[in-house]
Amino acid sequence: MDLPFVPYRIKVVERVKSVTRERREELLTKAGYNVFSLPSDSIYVDLLTDSGTSAMSDAQWGAMLQGDEAYAGSRNYYDFEETIRDIFGYKHVIPTHQGRVAENLLFSTLLTKGSVVPNNIHFDTTRANVEYQGAIALDCVIAEGLDPMIDHPFKGNMDLDKLGAAFEKYGDRIPFVMITITNNSGGGQPVSLANIKAVSEFCRDKGVPLIFDACRFAENAWFIKRREDGYAEKSIKEIAREIFSHGDGCTMSAKKDALVNMGGFLCLNNDVWAQEITNLLILIEGFRTYGGLSGRDLAAVAQGLREVLEDDYLTYRIGQVQRMGAQMQERGVPILFPVGGHAVYVDAKRMLPHIPQAEFPAQALTCALYLEGGVRGVEIGSLMFAGTDPDTGAPTFPAMELVRLAVPRRVYTETHLSFVAECCAELMAHGERLGGLEIEYEAPVLRHFTARLKPISGQLIRD
Ligand SMILES: *Cc1c(COP(=O)(O)O)cnc(C)c1O
Repeated sequence: MDLPFVPYRIKVVERVKSVTRERREELLTKAGYNVFSLPSDSIYVDLLTDSGTSAMSDAQWGAMLQGDEAYAGSRNYYDFEETIRDIFGYKHVIPTHQGRVAENLLFSTLLTKGSVVPNNIHFDTTRANVEYQGAIALDCVIAEGLDPMIDHPFKGNMDLDKLGAAFEKYGDRIPFVMITITNNSGGGQPVSLANIKAVSEFCRDKGVPLIFDACRFAENAWFIKRREDGYAEKSIKEIAREIFSHGDGCTMSAKKDALVNMGGFLCLNNDVWAQEITNLLILIEGFRTYGGLSGRDLAAVAQGLREVLEDDYLTYRIGQVQRMGAQMQERGVPILFPVGGHAVYVDAKRMLPHIPQAEFPAQALTCALYLEGGVRGVEIGSLMFAGTDPDTGAPTFPAMELVRLAVPRRVYTETHLSFVAECCAELMAHGERLGGLEIEYEAPVLRHFTARLKPISGQLIRD
């Protein structure tokens, strides 16, 4: 039998109640066809995000009971610092309450108006924090990383030609280079160690530091172990150490690969920057041994980082995502290829070719998934990204219309995820019955969070 090894069993459960289709229809109408406005207890399988949604282990909960809540010098901080130094290898470890604060502290210290930051692809909070400083966030991923159909083992890789061109154009306006592992905005695609090494050598040659956006570093290391020559026999921790040895620091959201619900940190080797940022930390987050987190939160992060390095955990976790993708492909549901580490992306443009982009096909599919199955994903398409051409005023649309189904860590069983694949297949079979949406209300910025919509024909799915 081809069943995966499940590296945990269930000790505590959270009740999930079944909600009738009639009730879901009522809630969806009330929510203005926006799944961000749904109450989470009306959702059966919630794949809105893998951020902060992990299930903690008994060892993490146990560690939380032993939190040392001293204002300064908490025992948990020293364990947090030592655990992070052991894996990441950097000299200074600065706790923050989320990844975006680590970004904000770093960027407000190192960027000025007109600075340029190259990255494979900036995650949205990273881009926003770079731009908030009046700097330019430049994406330099390889061409394959932008094509949803091309098979490539490391679609998150940086394009060294694009990076070289950036240095030719902007020169000393570039204070550091970033690499995001795995490349979240490119579909959770990994970066190879060969590429990391090449970027690192390039940066050393230019005399600029290399900083990792490390949110899914363990998942990236797992892909290296499976896909890159010479790493099959290495442990995840050895691979992680090798990755970070090529850089000078990292930002991290602990809500991803530290298996906690809230937390983050920033690591740096540079003493001067670390000092300056620590001073700022005290102003914004708190003293340097807690940085916006309780002692018990630091304990949970440290334990989570030890657990995330376990090969059987990663094999099962990434395997769950891959299996859900494979089940959809078998049933003819169009998805982005290859499937990355944390999410499956359904291609709504190919699934619902009769709905024009101006009528939000990916949002219609997101709503239909909730209506039919109580499944929540998130639209990454024209609701999130459409704009207007500054010269002509004509509407512009993103290249892709996607529904992202992000899998929380250690939360759902195979049954849940097979159900999601089944729902997608059912909707695929009756795709022509789905209709488009129109906007009733939109905010001037980041409209996808609060927009209210309604079905153009009065009915999302025709009887
Ligand atoms: C989530 C995420 C962040 C931001 O972290 P928060 O903890 O949500 O503030 C930054 N970069 C990447 C790649 C992420 O996935």
